[in-house]
Amino acid sequence: MPLFPLGVIVAPKVPAHGFAARVKGVARTPYDALRGAFRTARSAVVQRIVSAAARPMVASPGRCLVVAPHPDDETLACGGLMALKRASGAEVNVVLLSRGEGSHRGCCDVEPRHIGDVRQKLAQEAAGALGLAAANLHWAVASAGHIPRRGQEGLDGAVRGLAALIERLVPQEVFCPHPLDCWPDHEAATAMALEAIRTSGQTCELYFFLVWAWYKLPLRSLRRLGLSSARRLDIRPVVESKRAAIGAYLGAAVPGCGKPYVGVLPRGFLAPFRRSIEIYFARGPGGRGAEGGCP
Ligand SMILES: [Zn+2]
Ligand SMILES: [Zn+2]
Repeated sequence: MPLFPLGVIVAPKVPAHGFAARVKGVARTPYDALRGAFRTARSAVVQRIVSAAARPMVASPGRCLVVAPHPDDETLACGGLMALKRASGAEVNVVLLSRGEGSHRGCCDVEPRHIGDVRQKLAQEAAGALGLAAANLHWAVASAGHIPRRGQEGLDGAVRGLAALIERLVPQEVFCPHPLDCWPDHEAATAMALEAIRTSGQTCELYFFLVWAWYKLPLRSLRRLGLSSARRLDIRPVVESKRAAIGAYLGAAVPGCGKPYVGVLPRGFLAPFRRSIEIYFARGPGGRGAEGGCP
């Protein structure tokens, strides 16, 4: 599998985020449990409102690129879309911006490199369940456990690398996290993808997807998602393939602590990804309408 050579960049010290926080975020106190129940209930409301506002879309036969901050985001958010496209013979590529090595930070002493190795294999397994070949997974990893954002070392090189990949693959559609996806790495991934598209000079249809925003977006910010651009994709014909792909990620556990390599996800987090629809936000050509930052 090609490791996209973006160089080794020293990650600055930042608060634990990404999958580490998933492990740490497990309910441990009555307050945590209460907060989890509130977020799960709120997520159900968000799903209902967004789904009701969304207009139907179909999976086009166009060549596409899915931008995933961590190995599993592509499957959770776009597994159905990718399987539908592959079933119709469309070319589907995924670029992963990290190997998700931080998922057990604060949990156990498993080597981050080992986690990255396993999660790379799990990504292949999940992609296989969706009809993708290993050659369609691309690794644009700028640093271990961290995606550089504006003003941070490594961003320019990472953007250049991603732009080169886009120039090579010439996707007609790019799917990346919504700028309001409520997770620092995801918002950084979006900023990087938009800048890379611009740098590449390619014209492609842009779609945003939600991963963490389903669970974390405050109701008062729903409108900022751009509900008029929401689209609903019926994935019933491939829903079993998507479930198998999700199962590949969730079924593998670190021997020492017994927790999944992808980290422990909060209760209720997975519900939006187990539905027989997927939601996208169609943003048209290029990187318009990309105001980031979870409220
Ligand atoms: Zn992620
Ligand atoms: Zn662990």
